[in-house]
Amino acid sequence: MTKRLYDLDSHQTETQSTVLSCTAVEDKFDVVLDQTVFFPEGGGQPSDTGTLGEANVLHVREENGEIYHRIDRALAVGASVTGAIDWMRRFDLMQQHTGEHLLSFSFYDLFQASNVGFHLALDYATIDFAKPVSREEIKEAELLANRFVWKNLPVQATFYESEEEVAALPLRKHAEGLQPPIRIVHVEGADMCTCCAPHCYTTGEIGSIFVADASSYKGGTRITFFCGERALKLHRAQHDDLDAIARRFSCQREAVPGAVKKLSDDFGALKKSERELAKSLNVYMSAEFLQAAAQAGKYRVVAQLVSGVDAGRLKDLAQSSSAEKTLALLLSETDGRLFYVLSSGAGFPIDVSELMPAVNAALGGKGGGRGSLAQGTAPSAVGAKEALAQVRSYFVKRLGDTK
Ligand SMILES: [Zn+2]
Repeated sequence: MTKRLYDLDSHQTETQSTVLSCTAVEDKFDVVLDQTVFFPEGGGQPSDTGTLGEANVLHVREENGEIYHRIDRALAVGASVTGAIDWMRRFDLMQQHTGEHLLSFSFYDLFQASNVGFHLALDYATIDFAKPVSREEIKEAELLANRFVWKNLPVQATFYESEEEVAALPLRKHAEGLQPPIRIVHVEGADMCTCCAPHCYTTGEIGSIFVADASSYKGGTRITFFCGERALKLHRAQHDDLDAIARRFSCQREAVPGAVKKLSDDFGALKKSERELAKSLNVYMSAEFLQAAAQAGKYRVVAQLVSGVDAGRLKDLAQSSSAEKTLALLLSETDGRLFYVLSSGAGFPIDVSELMPAVNAALGGKGGGRGSLAQGTAPSAVGAKEALAQVRSYFVKRLGDTK
């Protein structure tokens, strides 16, 4: 059985090991060593990576009590090799994991919210709590967890030889079905729980803990948090974004929320006045359209191509252009796409759903509707003018034959 050096010292980055076996797995190899500093994936923590002699260690796993190092080139059995972990990666993962213990303890201690799920990824980490926690509670637990960081408390891992000994401990969380020896990770004066992963020496190594997001999850709350360098990087990126926004508004960072609110209010007022202006403009435009309408027996056909009118306004325009016994087909080209509306006025004898297939086919678009209104879009406005003329002739012919 491989000697697990990471259990004895979480900060040992290198060791000399003897290769006990090397098995080919497709184009990679699984190596077992007499001793290792590589932590195999477990307890929610990703595995270490690094190098073994000339080989790269891609992943490490534990299977039936044995530790397998997946490497990219073969090593000779019996060879002595230097194993070195990617320390930046390991230390980052330990910062997140020890931070997770402190957060879980704080939520449990303050609000009896127990951790029922932990996910540690290479760029974020989440904890799922069994019950909902509020924004205020999150801030309170985050502060308590950081206070444990600032106390720089020792983090100890101890092995217990029996279930009975473990049962007597004041554990926050006890993973079921563990075979002795059972490993307990204890932050002095704070958390104590079963855990197999390497941790920081002291809580000060975590640096800081920041809860960035919270959302409802399976009747409880899922939080996303960042510790150490991850927390710094997040704050740096968000601070720089805020600076860029402040420069855009020519204001201090503190004034950004007010400036954004003012911009949003001003924009809302402008949109409202634009809608009102568009409404009055529509009256003039539809009068013009009706004047240019083609006569088809007892009915009239309005067919116009406009540009830069959005789908909502196009609908209003088509409806105001479809006077009594009139059919209006309006097209608008916006950002290279084509929007179209088919609308009929009072006393018009045909349901627009009967006419829409011919419109869709001519414009190469998709759309539908029934009664007196149908709408559609086409991915391109190329050839729209010719297609419109074609549909107009078809309508005129069809309506000319209609009693
Ligand atoms: Zn743990």
